Amino acid sequence: MTGDRAERKMRFLYALRSKGVTDLRVLDAMERIDRGAFVTGIFAERAQDDVPLPIACGQTISQPSVVGLMTQALEVGPRDKVLEVGTGSGYQAAILSLLARRVYTVDRHRRLVREAEERFRALGLVNIVARVADGSHGLPEQAPFDRILVTAAAEDPPGPLLAQLREGGIMVLPVGQSDHVQSLIKVTRRPGGHDYEELRAVRFVPLVEGIAPD
Ligand code: SAH
Repeated sequence: MTGDRAERKMRFLYALRSKGVTDLRVLDAMERIDRGAFVTGIFAERAQDDVPLPIACGQTISQPSVVGLMTQALEVGPRDKVLEVGTGSGYQAAILSLLARRVYTVDRHRRLVREAEERFRALGLVNIVARVADGSHGLPEQAPFDRILVTAAAEDPPGPLLAQLREGGIMVLPVGQSDHVQSLIKVTRRPGGHDYEELRAVRFVPLVEGIAPD
């Protein structure tokens, strides 16, 4: 690593810590996955900045500190089977793949899934399965999941996702209307129902129904 890159990486990790990402396993995973591999074109040089950036299909790669806080709230264990809704660039899935046994990630845009798969292959991340699907229905054939992370905002937690969470399982997702401030919430499935905890205000692209026509 050149001095300049090493310094940017240090600033990147410092920004994560100062915004509340303190879990050492999460910090280690975020140190190992280079965000620069998930951002292309003119935005690549801003990959180490703590800002969301545009990706293909009019979508965005989330702000690193938000990725860190969501991953931390998910409390992923090494034996966990995780579902991510909203593959986007594949960055979040790559981080999850270092913490979990297996990650299923779905997106409604074929192009995003194809490009993310190429990145996973290039990085040797063999425990990620990417699929084109409408994630608001979850992934019934692989359910139940120990952990579910949704990276697009629905007005309410989608029923199929609540149902596909294993007992004791955790789901983290933004809820609220698009173009408004949304709430990041943590849902824990208990024997008698679901517990809800509000974590912080966030802003995500909307969860849109159906497969995109591209
Ligand atoms: N986690 C991504 C960023 C996600 S942006 C990353 O690390 O880069 C949100 C993504 O959710 C977009 O790619 C969008 O296409 C996808 N999305 C929106 N609605 C969806 C749905 N119903 N099913 C699956 N993916 C959806």
